[in-house]
Amino acid sequence: MKFGTKAIHAGIEPDPATGAIMTPIYQTSTYVQQSPGDHKGYEYSRTHNPTRTALQNNLAALENGKHGICFSSGLGAIDAVIKLFNPGDEIISTNDLYGGSYRLFTKVYERYGIIFKFVPMSDAASIADHITENTKMIWVETPTNPMMNIIDIAAVAKLSTGNKIILAVDNTFASPYLQNPLDLGADIVMHSVTKYLGGHSDVVMGALVVNDDELAKKLVFIQNATGATPGPQDCFLVIRGIKTLHLRMERHSQNGKTIAAYLKNHPKVDKIYWPGFESHPNHEIAKKQMRDYGGMISFTLVGNKESAARKLMESFQIFALAESLGGVESLCGHPASMTHASIPKEEREKVGLVDSLIRLSVGVEDAEDLKNDLANALSKI
Ligand SMILES: *Cc1c(COP(=O)(O)O)cnc(C)c1O
Repeated sequence: MKFGTKAIHAGIEPDPATGAIMTPIYQTSTYVQQSPGDHKGYEYSRTHNPTRTALQNNLAALENGKHGICFSSGLGAIDAVIKLFNPGDEIISTNDLYGGSYRLFTKVYERYGIIFKFVPMSDAASIADHITENTKMIWVETPTNPMMNIIDIAAVAKLSTGNKIILAVDNTFASPYLQNPLDLGADIVMHSVTKYLGGHSDVVMGALVVNDDELAKKLVFIQNATGATPGPQDCFLVIRGIKTLHLRMERHSQNGKTIAAYLKNHPKVDKIYWPGFESHPNHEIAKKQMRDYGGMISFTLVGNKESAARKLMESFQIFALAESLGGVESLCGHPASMTHASIPKEEREKVGLVDSLIRLSVGVEDAEDLKNDLANALSKI
């Protein structure tokens, strides 16, 4: 099956009781048993829920994996992955990553004795220098948030497989439509479902997809034992959102291309970060591992003034100033004071995350209107 067909059909069966074509919202915590232990596969909704099962199977299919495992947020999903490890284990993470992941790693799990090394990964071969006998996982995010760096997943997979290290990829920015890390050799793919998969800014959810049965068993155990599971109503909303994922991603990518080209020629714009440009340092890798380049764009302003960035974001009529990304509506954000405020300024600036950096999540509106909104706001600064 091709992607669009899978988005609509994979894992989704008509309801066995009524034939309802849409998976019902099984709003129930428990299930009646005929006799103790004699049940229909469902006992308690933290462990299993039919709406969640349908979504998990659908997500697995979209990532070409065998097992989908959903959590109550993206961070809940990452938290479950880290719980695979023990004190003294080392995890190598990209140094340019989602602020919440950085916070979870350094503020929560370092206290439990897990060791994190944050390293640049634009040159995948250089990761080898950081591998020790205690290295248990490599954590990759690509494209990175918000600098839009591209990491060569297949090249990192060669390093991790040879050293029996788990490779996990946060695939939130790309979505399964643009990139499938398991096909490139990753062991775990993680999503903040809140973003493109949900797609309508109405749900917070996370997911993991894996192929390996043993790894899946451990993660499902953690999912149930620690309990960060999503409710059936949210699972329903995501199933519904995913039915148009391919259509939305095509439009996000098309609009992204138009907006990136517009910003590139604007005299008030300094740097612009978007992997679709041939001048992007890892454009060739993006071209190889992604189906298209998506609608996430970051840029800085000539003069690098935070006040100018603020004025610009206050002047938008369509781009809404808000955290998050991946919804049908266009958003803008200021990583230095919003999503990445928990990362120290010196650390931020090392990777180019300066005070005038603005991140756009280009939505699926008409590109002409988005361009006009940018033109008008830029004229105010
Ligand atoms: C939002 C996000 C997360 C965290 O997901 P939540 O659903 O907000 O918990 C992780 N990684 C990336 C890249 C994100 O954008």
